[in-house]
Amino acid sequence: MNVNKMEKIVALCKRRGFIYPGSEIYGGLTGTWDYGPLGALLKKNIKDQWWKAMVQLRDDVVGVDAAIMMNSTVWERSGHLEAFTDPLVECKICHQRFRADKKQDLEMHEKTHKENLPAGRQVEWTAPQKFNLLVKAYLGIIEGQQSEIFLRGEITQGAFVNFENVVSSTRVKIPFGVAQIGKAFRNEITPGNFIFRSREFEQMELEFFIKPTEAEGDKWFEYWKNERINWYQALGIKKEKLRFRKHRDDERAHYAKFAEDIEYEAPFGWSEFEGIHNRGDWDLSRHGLSYVDDDGKKFTPWVIEASGGIDRSLLFFLLDAYHEEEKRVVLKLHPKLAPYKVAVFPLLANKENLVSEARKIYQTLQQDMMVAWDDRGNIGKRYFAQDEAGTPFCVTVDFQSLEDKTVTIRDRDTAKQERVEIAKLSKYLLDKLQ
Ligand code: ATP
Repeated sequence: MNVNKMEKIVALCKRRGFIYPGSEIYGGLTGTWDYGPLGALLKKNIKDQWWKAMVQLRDDVVGVDAAIMMNSTVWERSGHLEAFTDPLVECKICHQRFRADKKQDLEMHEKTHKENLPAGRQVEWTAPQKFNLLVKAYLGIIEGQQSEIFLRGEITQGAFVNFENVVSSTRVKIPFGVAQIGKAFRNEITPGNFIFRSREFEQMELEFFIKPTEAEGDKWFEYWKNERINWYQALGIKKEKLRFRKHRDDERAHYAKFAEDIEYEAPFGWSEFEGIHNRGDWDLSRHGLSYVDDDGKKFTPWVIEASGGIDRSLLFFLLDAYHEEEKRVVLKLHPKLAPYKVAVFPLLANKENLVSEARKIYQTLQQDMMVAWDDRGNIGKRYFAQDEAGTPFCVTVDFQSLEDKTVTIRDRDTAKQERVEIAKLSKYLLDKLQ
């Protein structure tokens, strides 16, 4: 396992303000992470790109934003109260708990006891128990009479409970999709691998409603598999680092007829970050919902789902973009995802005319994009910092700028520089950021 690379990413995320441990000043809260100034921008850019591809550019998908807290009957009907479980085992020596289906984690734990066990003896585990992942909360104002609710374990149900609302309030006709982005919560047995498995995370999901036949199911399943893997590649993830993996019968979620994951080759092994599921009519029939087509025919649509994790994809975008070169560390993030698109520097911080010219450029560019400002240290150090932040371009205002109204633009990936007229700077950058 290339743990080293993960450690470097975690350190870079803290150093540059991408991601911090949750509640850090009070010793943290296991399985939670806070996104800092750069991380919040990167996350927003991923979400914006997803929304653009899945909603804005399509005629057949609409977006919703459902409540996190839902009537508990939703979770009973969806099957989550009964079946949203992971198998939990406990080490009989130290009582630490793990997921029985994560063999690698069990083996790693067994190694920690090896030295203290008599020869020939092995770590013993308790029999696996079903552990429900839903996080409970209590609502109401009278102590003792509060109602128990569940923070949503998947954002999916918000699309189903609003199925009739969406059909009656918009012009969608089957086949059509409902897209949503939002937080989900799971009482994970073993949160870990940085933001890969946390207890609070964000999902980007499409629920695509189709006619209930095997042929339609297969057609749309293949369609969405390809759409989704192409999306990640178009945003720069290397093809050879991506693969599909079919779910085995014993690992499929309770709602899925058929499922495949999109996996990334992370330093800790091939890992899921989006699931494509054929949910059949599981959800709509459990909620007692149906659809009437233009000919008056009533049926229960099937659902093809593309359920991606924003935090996991963010981690994989970072890992994929991370490059160590001779004298620098550079995040070669796709320009559409980069937190800052450009950084503006006055060559010298103590020359009033350079600073005011640079400031003007900075404020003009801010109208169109996120711009970083840096006037500390020397230019080399500023480049170094922006490379680690993944900023695709750096603009320097120097003495020549005051005379001929041009600036130097330095490209993050090639480190090459060219001079561009200040008047043409916005257009130059907007073209390059496409
Ligand atoms: P795993 O098998 O890793 O627990 P899952 O199959 O339960 O994941 P899904 O229920 O299919 O995951 O959720 C869809 C997506 O939501 C996942 O592909 C992942 O990107 C994201 N996700 C799920 N659980 C977590 C988590 N604990 N932390 C971060 N992201 C998560």
